[in-house]
Amino acid sequence: MVDIIIMNRDTSEENINAVIQKVKTLGYDVIVAKGTEKIIIGIIGDTRELSEEIFISMPGVVETIGILKGYKLVSREFKSEDTSISVDNVKIDSNHIVVIAGPCSVESREQMFKTASFIKDCGARILRGGAYKPRTSPYSFSGLREEGLEILKYIKKSVGIPVITEVLAPEDIEMVGEVADILQIGARNMYNYPLLEAAGKSGRPVMLKRGFQATISELLSCAEYILKEGNSNVILCERGIRTFDTQFTRNCLDLNAVPVLKKETHLPVFVDPSHGTGKRDLVIPMSKAAIAAGTDGLIIEVHPEPEKALSDGFQSLTFDLFKELMKEIRPFATLAGKSI
Ligand code: PEP
Ligand code: MN
Repeated sequence: MVDIIIMNRDTSEENINAVIQKVKTLGYDVIVAKGTEKIIIGIIGDTRELSEEIFISMPGVVETIGILKGYKLVSREFKSEDTSISVDNVKIDSNHIVVIAGPCSVESREQMFKTASFIKDCGARILRGGAYKPRTSPYSFSGLREEGLEILKYIKKSVGIPVITEVLAPEDIEMVGEVADILQIGARNMYNYPLLEAAGKSGRPVMLKRGFQATISELLSCAEYILKEGNSNVILCERGIRTFDTQFTRNCLDLNAVPVLKKETHLPVFVDPSHGTGKRDLVIPMSKAAIAAGTDGLIIEVHPEPEKALSDGFQSLTFDLFKELMKEIRPFATLAGKSI
């Protein structure tokens, strides 16, 4: 089994091309990553029958690696350096804590304008807000849809802030992608393979949220579907999993996942303490805990009038609380060696 071919950093283009051609003539696709110390050639497809002998004697090849996991392009074996994603002038990487904030749903131009201006002034770098909302009940508010996208487009320009918004179906990717700087694939859609592949093909940055019943390895395999299409601009997001306590918390924010993911993958890892706890007063403490655990960013629900919100008001921060959050997390970011 060969999933990754490691080549010497100083080897010639000719040698690299020879290996790529060899892999392709055997019927596989390749993804090439040029690191500072080595060149890595990832082989896409069912590699169980590939033997090391085919490649090991080719000039420039240092070693071959077989990966017995369901994912390889997302793994640290494939790429040891942390992935950095640029969204406008915002850098999502392991040197920063990028705060994304905004309401659960886009409800009106006024609501979005107020929120975007406020969170930006407080130091958040990206605005969130769902135009298409996946709801547990089909009778709940399911978003303003196209009108919501229009609002986001207007706010992006007038306030000057990049936006993340959810996409529910492969056929919506083009339309949503015209507005979204980051496409959000939500917990309910983590296993939607056609959606993952379409998001991969779009080339847009994607935030993939962990399904509430998903293992960490399933999350990584789902991210692999996006990378396999040639898009490595993927952010993983821990947003709480379902356990047995529904009295005090909506979900159990699995902060174990943060250091595990940081070790296992080169992709940036975010935490969503709003959905992860489902309780407004737990958002600040769990944001601090997420930073201590090694997160690269936070995604937080904020609403000008949470009691009137059309979705997730009970877990949305008021403006005052969001300001307080930004103040309280700064020393934690400094301790973690990151800037906000
Ligand atoms: C959301 O971000 O509002 C949302 C629906 O999140 P999740 O997919 O994590 O439930
Ligand atoms: Mn929500």
